[in-house]
Amino acid sequence: MAPEVRPDCTVYTSGEHCPMCSAGHAWVGLVRIVYAGSTAQLTQWREAMGLPPGPVLALPINAVASGVPVAGPALELADELRALHERSAAAP
Ligand SMILES: [Zn+2]
Repeated sequence: MAPEVRPDCTVYTSGEHCPMCSAGHAWVGLVRIVYAGSTAQLTQWREAMGLPPGPVLALPINAVASGVPVAGPALELADELRALHERSAAAP
């Protein structure tokens, strides 16, 4: 993607960016992110499923990339997202 068009783009994602993706997003000059499920939700869901925390700090996008406008989570999708994560965790 050409650098001059990046500021006009919105990235849509099912899950909030991890710290690495948040940093990459900011460094390449992308701007707005819209996500369905937050890192905080995922952390709570994993804990409720008895899963260990991930190997990377569960930081929200703006803790890493403070100038990036974000929208999320989409609370109306929370039950559906949680069910997907539960199915994924139960898969062999
Ligand atoms: Zn990532």
